[in-house]
Order: sequence, then structure tokens, then C-alpha cells
Amino acid sequence: MSTLAGSPALKVQVMCEGIRYTPALGAAAAHSMPNYYPYRFKPGEPDPTGRGSATIPYLINTPDGTEIRILGDGDSPWHIEGSQAEGYRLVDDRSGRSVSVAFEPMYPWLTQKTSDGLPFAQAGVQVHGDMLVVNVAPGCEYFLHKHEGQSMRCAFCAYGAPDERTKHLGQISGRVEILQPTLERMREAMDAVIAQTEIRHIYLVGGSLTDARKEGERFLQLARFVKAHNRHRIPVALGSGAIADDQIAQFKAEQLVDHVCFNLEMWSEPLFNQVCPGKARYVGYARWIEALETAVRHFGRGHVYSAMVAGVELEPEHGLEWEQAARTALEGAEDLCRRGIIPVYSLVWPSGGRQRPDYHARIRNYFETLITGYAAIRRRHGLEVSDGFMCHRCAYMQLECDLDRAAKAAA
Ligand code: SF4
Repeated sequence: MSTLAGSPALKVQVMCEGIRYTPALGAAAAHSMPNYYPYRFKPGEPDPTGRGSATIPYLINTPDGTEIRILGDGDSPWHIEGSQAEGYRLVDDRSGRSVSVAFEPMYPWLTQKTSDGLPFAQAGVQVHGDMLVVNVAPGCEYFLHKHEGQSMRCAFCAYGAPDERTKHLGQISGRVEILQPTLERMREAMDAVIAQTEIRHIYLVGGSLTDARKEGERFLQLARFVKAHNRHRIPVALGSGAIADDQIAQFKAEQLVDHVCFNLEMWSEPLFNQVCPGKARYVGYARWIEALETAVRHFGRGHVYSAMVAGVELEPEHGLEWEQAARTALEGAEDLCRRGIIPVYSLVWPSGGRQRPDYHARIRNYFETLITGYAAIRRRHGLEVSDGFMCHRCAYMQLECDLDRAAKAAA
């Protein structure tokens, strides 16, 4: 049923089906940016490491610059062959098709340290292709709150828990301000990254606070600091939660950021309430959309985004088949685009339902239907993802930039 061709088709397939472990994939980890999630061998899967898990690379680059995130899966028909000296190939068992690939390299900054000895990798920066993500307060307060036994964290979130990272960054629950030494260490790391690789986008993110105004204050402090040290004038995006309207205006008045991205995550209020209980409780669905509309008024169409998690609706507890899930998501895309807001869909595998024989097929059908339908909606509304916000070189689990690039090449 696929209507995709070329690199976007390959990217969707590999994102939806994962890659299984081979010694070549393991060997590539020695010279590649490491994956945040180690490869976990399934029961019965051959494990040449004998350890049950292995470090693998994070990102694949195809010859035309398409970036693909690697998700390990022992059942996948995709695997890696070759070596650093000969070059690597991504191979599909079913057809024998083989594509030349490279991995995002292990840049020197990944093993370097700040002047006071903190590894840059712990200083609050991450890199995806040509995007530098600044995250100096990753701990999310939603993880600390429960209501009627239910955690307020978003159901899919594996990265907001206060942990070792928050300790290195000096983040303490309840303190809004970011410590000056934390900002200085981040600046050193940011300078090293920018000196070693081409960075074309800076994205400010962080864990949520239960008080949206306080969250806005924290992001104002961060954005002012980044602006003061952004010597190359790299475009900056604000990736906070839905902060107060006057604070959105303040970001614009001080020209602190070029783009805004408040992540609604899930279209339809019932799904939003179930998947993002903290956002629903402390901000609310209607207010979230209102804040995005306020951002459009200040920053203009084409500068306001909302990341969406695509695939979480296929979790068994929501009782949705892929056709209904895709229909709802496309209704949301239409509605948001009408308001001048550009949703960006990241594929997130549902953790349940793996025993279904169509587990991978339904994810792929859903995601392909969504991204192709959404490309047509964007065109109809005259909206395009700004090259300053994001591009095909950093969209490692999103397809919007790849599809727009393919459409331009075909025109
Ligand atoms: S707001 Fe949701 S997605 Fe963001 S860090 Fe908190 S729990 Fe995770």
C-alpha cells in the first residue's frame, strides 16, 4: 500500500521495523555516537556478546543525507553488514536489497570535559545531526506527582525522570532558577559542539514544572543566556510547555527565539487526558491550544510548532485500530494547520500489543497514512517546516522535512 519512494520509504520502513543486532552493528558503536538505549537481546536471540545487551549506534545517515534513528529489534528483517574500512550496508532479508549507510560519528566533544572536569556529555547538551538540543533541567515535576494513584507523567515518557542527569546539572525539585555554573558548563559544551560539527538549529527544552508561569521564568533565564552566547546567530527554538501569554510576548519582544514549539503530543481531548495526565491537569487541553494560538499571533505562521507522539494511540488500552488512530491524527493536523500551527509527528512504538502478528504492519500503515495525508494538508494550508527550525539532517524520527524535500525535488 506504500505510496512513498526513495529515502522517505526506506526511513519509514526502518523506523517501523527496527534493526536487529549483528556484530557489524556492535562494531560500529566503537566509532559512532552511542544510542541512549542499549540493544537488548530477546530470549532465544543469538547474543554474541554474552551479556544480554550491547551498545549500538544512535543514528544512520544515508548517502543523500537522510537521518534515521536506530531502534533495536531482534525480530527485524533489517540488519547491518560491513565494517568501518569497507563501509556499512543496511540489508533487508526479505529482498536482499542493500543500501550503503554511515553512522553519526563519535565526535571528540562526546569524550571531552568542561574546564572544571564535567564530561560535556553530562553538561546539558545533545546533538541530532545539525540540531543542538539544550536541556539543563531535564527533570520533570510530573514524575513527582500522583493523583488517585495515577502518575502525572506522560505515558510514553522515558526521559523526564529526575535521575543522575539532574544531579550532575544541580537541578533540585522546587527551584526554578538554573544555577550559573550549570549554564557556564553548558556554554563550554555548546561552544565545543559548534566548533566540531555544523549546527544549524538550537532547541531549548527541559522537564515541565507544575506551575506554567514558573516554567516560563526558567525558560526566559535560559533563552537570555543562550542569546548572549550564540555568537553565530544560529536560529533558536523555544521547546517549553504552554507558558503564560505575557511570557510568550516577552520572548518575542526580546527576540530571544525564532520559533516556538509547545508539545501537545496527542490530538483529541480524551486521548490527551489519558496520555498526558500532567499536561491535562496542570495546563489543560484548551489552554495548550490557546497558548499555541498566542504564539502564532506573536511569531507568525510557519514559526509555531507542536511535537506529537504518533503511535502511542495504538496502545491496547485505547482500543483503537490504526485506521481510526490515523483518522483522528489527521483531523488534528487539519485543525492545527488551520490555526497556523505546524504539528511534527515523531514515531513512538506502542509498548503493548507486541504479541499481535500485525504489530509492525499496523504501526507502518498508521504512520504512512498519517505522514502522507499530513503532507497534503500542509500543502493545502501553504505551510512548510522552516529550515531554521528543523531539516532533513536532524529529523531523525520525523518525516515532514524528508517528504517536503522529495516533493520539491520531484517538482
Ligand atoms: S512533560 Fe511529559 S514528555 Fe515532557 S518530560 Fe514531562 S512527562 Fe516527559
